[in-house]
Amino acid sequence: MAWTVNKQGKACAVCGKELAGGSEVVSSLEYSETGLIRLDRCPGCHPSGSEKVFSFWRRTVPKPEEKPPDATPRLKQFFDNLLATERLDPMKEKTLFLLALALMRKRILKQIASNHADGVEHWTLRRAGDGTEVQIVVPNVSPNELEALRAQLAAMLDFEV
Ligand SMILES: [Zn+2]
Repeated sequence: MAWTVNKQGKACAVCGKELAGGSEVVSSLEYSETGLIRLDRCPGCHPSGSEKVFSFWRRTVPKPEEKPPDATPRLKQFFDNLLATERLDPMKEKTLFLLALALMRKRILKQIASNHADGVEHWTLRRAGDGTEVQIVVPNVSPNELEALRAQLAAMLDFEV
């Protein structure tokens, strides 16, 4: 299984306007039939109310010498949006798992239990902020596939996940 990943654009995905360093961009992550898609749009072409959008954030295109801003809030937002999805397919489960690993490294989530039911491993995670607990499925993936997905997700989020 592979994601279809659109590389982050140098131009608005809708109107084609160039997105040069220093300009405003609205980036979003959406699921389509072919996979997870990262889209960059100019502020005038920002989508509103699309149910497929799992996460979006406004940013300024960094100039080559600039460090990207902290992506933790958008990781949390993406994780929460995905968690709220009614039906998780295997691809979304893998995404959720990768986001959970990243948030665990940031000490925003802490693993407090692991259990097996019907051949599926679940992790119970506690949020650092309000102490609420969430359950996620541990996907059945090889380390190689996980690493490939991690690299793709990191590129899409402008963040090391
Ligand atoms: Zn545009």
